Amino acid sequence: MTLFAGKSKRHASWPRARIEEALRGAFTSVLVIGEDVSHTIYDVADRAFRFVVALVHEDGVKAGVSEVGFLARFVGFRPSDRVLRQLNGELHLAAAFIEEGELYVLAKVAVQGKFADQKFALILGAWKRDMSFVLEAVQREPPSPDRGHADFSETLGFDPGEIGRRTGAFCAAYFWRNEPKVVCDACSGRGKGGLLARECATCDGAGFVEALR
Ligand SMILES: [Zn+2]
Repeated sequence: MTLFAGKSKRHASWPRARIEEALRGAFTSVLVIGEDVSHTIYDVADRAFRFVVALVHEDGVKAGVSEVGFLARFVGFRPSDRVLRQLNGELHLAAAFIEEGELYVLAKVAVQGKFADQKFALILGAWKRDMSFVLEAVQREPPSPDRGHADFSETLGFDPGEIGRRTGAFCAAYFWRNEPKVVCDACSGRGKGGLLARECATCDGAGFVEALR
C-alpha cells in the first residue's frame, strides 16, 4: 500500500494555456523552444535575467501540466562555497549548485488542486525573489578572471535549438534531479501565519515544502 500512498496527490493538473498566459503577463519575452508529449519548454526573459521554464505533462499535453520547473544557468560565475551556502540559506523555492564549473539555480513545483492565477503568482513570486538573491550573490563576487565583465543576458548558456531537438533529454539531464516542492498547506504559501505573523513552523517561512510522493 505504501507504494501508492502518495500517488493520489499527483493527479492534479493545470491548463497549459493559463500558465502560458501568466508567464507572458509576468515577463518581457516567453518563447516555446521545445515540445514533446511530456514536456513544454520555454525560454523566458525578464529585464534582468533569462531562464528556462519546463512544464511536465505527466498524462500527455491535453491532460495539462503536473509540474512546473525553472532553471537558470550562470556561465562564468563561480561563487565560493561560503557564498553558495549562504545563498542556499536565503532561497525559499530554488536550490543553487555548481556543476562542471557553472552555477545553476533550479526550482520545481508539483501543482496542487485547481489552477488559480494567485496560486501561480505565488510560485512566480517565489522564483523571482530567489533569482534576485542569486543576482545579488553573484554580483558580490567578481566573475571568473577568464570571463571578464559578464552580461547577465548572455549568461544563460542554453542553446534553444539543442533543447528543441532533445526536449526530453534536456529535462532528464537538468530538471529531474530534484524532487518537486509544493505550496505549504499550513500557511498557503505565505510563510507566516497567526495574529503575530510568526514564521510558519511547517515550512520555516519558505512557503514551500517537499512534496510527499
Ligand atoms: Zn508554511
